[in-house]
Amino acid sequence: MADDCKICSQNNNQAELASRLIWQNDEWLLLHHREPYPLNGWLLLQPKRHIQGVAYFNDREASDYGFITKAVSKTLQDVLHVPKVYLIAFGESIAHMHLHFIPRFEQMASQYLGFGIADLYRSVSDRSEESANANDVHNTILELRKRFEKTPPINN
Ligand SMILES: [Zn+2]
Repeated sequence: MADDCKICSQNNNQAELASRLIWQNDEWLLLHHREPYPLNGWLLLQPKRHIQGVAYFNDREASDYGFITKAVSKTLQDVLHVPKVYLIAFGESIAHMHLHFIPRFEQMASQYLGFGIADLYRSVSDRSEESANANDVHNTILELRKRFEKTPPINN
């Protein structure tokens, strides 16, 4: 754990995360994005260990990452009926790896597709675009929890 890291302190104060926690094991946490919600189903995967990015994975984390990203992407597609899920990890605002899973809905405005997704993120953050519906987000969290309880993204 790094003393000045916001993600490490979050991971160590899980009461704060409880409402948006979807799945965890000893090494990983899967969360829904906090309010304001850029999209229903915008998730974050972060290792509990303080590492900046994938370059610092140990072998087990590298392997887990492949299985988890596959399972989470597929489950998001099934639950939200989206044709694809974007994955982005910058590690820039906070230097603790956190991977964004971004459901690409059929009806999304064309200016928000591909790299345009950053414009949507900024617009929701500064409230010039509405947050996704809180009830929808809540229902998605419950459904994903149920699915990953039954079939975890990885078995360990
Ligand atoms: Zn950290």
